[in-house]
Amino acid sequence: MVTTRTTSGKRGALTVDSQPQDSDHIDGLKPSDHCAVVGYRGNDPGFGILLTALKTLQHRGQESAGIATFSNSTINVRKGMGLVAEVFNDRYTDSYLTGNVGIGHTRYSTAGTKSMENAGPFLVTNSLGHIAISHNGEITNADPLREEMMKLGLTFLTTSDTEVLLMELARDITNYGVAGGIKMAMDRLKGSYAVTLMINDRLFAIRDPLGIRPLVLGKSDAGYIVASETCALDILGARKIRDIKPGEAVEITDSGPQVLFQKPSPRTAHCMFEYVYFARPDSVIDNVEVFKSRINLGHHLAREYPVEADVVIPVPDSGRAQALGYSQESGIPYSEGLIKNRFSDRTFIMPTQEARKKAVALKLNTIKSEIEGKRVILVDDSIVRGNTMKHIVSLLRSSGAAEVHVRIGSPPIVAPCYFGVDMKTKDQFVATGRTIEEIREEIGADSLGYVSITGLVESIGKPENSLCLGCLTGMYPTQVPSQAKTVRQKELESFTE
Ligand code: SF4
Repeated sequence: MVTTRTTSGKRGALTVDSQPQDSDHIDGLKPSDHCAVVGYRGNDPGFGILLTALKTLQHRGQESAGIATFSNSTINVRKGMGLVAEVFNDRYTDSYLTGNVGIGHTRYSTAGTKSMENAGPFLVTNSLGHIAISHNGEITNADPLREEMMKLGLTFLTTSDTEVLLMELARDITNYGVAGGIKMAMDRLKGSYAVTLMINDRLFAIRDPLGIRPLVLGKSDAGYIVASETCALDILGARKIRDIKPGEAVEITDSGPQVLFQKPSPRTAHCMFEYVYFARPDSVIDNVEVFKSRINLGHHLAREYPVEADVVIPVPDSGRAQALGYSQESGIPYSEGLIKNRFSDRTFIMPTQEARKKAVALKLNTIKSEIEGKRVILVDDSIVRGNTMKHIVSLLRSSGAAEVHVRIGSPPIVAPCYFGVDMKTKDQFVATGRTIEEIREEIGADSLGYVSITGLVESIGKPENSLCLGCLTGMYPTQVPSQAKTVRQKELESFTE
């Protein structure tokens, strides 16, 4: 542990050199969301409630964690690198983060941007007092906005788009009041943002007009809770009041949520990957149960790509619900033929194919009796580069599988994401420029089937034009500025294969 000053000017402890764990990434090559956000206002001390909420949402980000609370006329922030439990691992924090209003944040790492400077919550101080923010998403016009503000003399401490978002909000709220300022900022900000915001002891929840990232409001006996997913409400014994609506800015007061305004939008664009992979299966996002949508994906897959086989096996843990759905629809028995070591290190940056292969072998083993001599249907939620799938197919064959038929619970990923997910550049996707038959050959399977876009949309149960399908179609729900594209691609290109 080293001790340093947080941006609040108070002393805070930053945990460094923590090794993040990501139990759901066999090789770190799954698409990854960037963040979880939470907020609390109530009668109890907020720290413990925010801590529990962040631990529940750990799957949304393992690089860093932080909590900010208001007490004694100031906002105190404590944040650090690592898992929530690693950052908040001493008994002094609850006496430092006192107060009954607060926000929290966890962040996921993309290569080249893993640093303390980007850990949330962010905090600034101006004539209004202290303003803190937790942000899930990505501001696609952050670079031009930063340049514009710098020309006006504003100084930035980080390269993060969240700092741009905070500066924009702080400036506009100072000039136009809370509702007018947030509205003004929303007019200028492009991209995705699900936000919990504190202005001194006031708590707000804000969601971009397309509703790309989720945000939900709940209530327990202790008070009001805002969180990225409903599973955090469940664990805290809170009941869901409702989703924060796309384009909505809501103040959470002692007497309940007060809607400041809702910016109209011709459509929504909920990220389809929340349903396919990111969100916990026990969450309900925009009134759709995530687990149910994954089961439906399995049903669709079985109808679209039937095959004679002996057993359906998921890639753990990501393919489990889709595999169960496939089994239910096809009548082919489900079994756990692959076992994952939950405690091995992430293998995010492995320099060679051989090293990655060894790393996958360290993480996965087979139950041979479930595989030997059998025709296996192997189910996962997605394929990005294809390296992991290739290794798993080979692992099943070396364990005696007679046939390996791969079924994927999402359509092929062919385009980058600009809205807060670390999807690779176009040419890094195995599906880019390849036919399904060529991908099958690449991964060494006997057959390969991806669920169709129609199947995906029906499985989620929302109209197609209410979802973002950008990484599947290359058609985005909002303009992707070319400058953002350049910066994003530069960042993604720093990914070491
Ligand atoms: S581009 Fe893909 S991952 Fe990104 S928000 Fe849209 S659906 Fe989600």
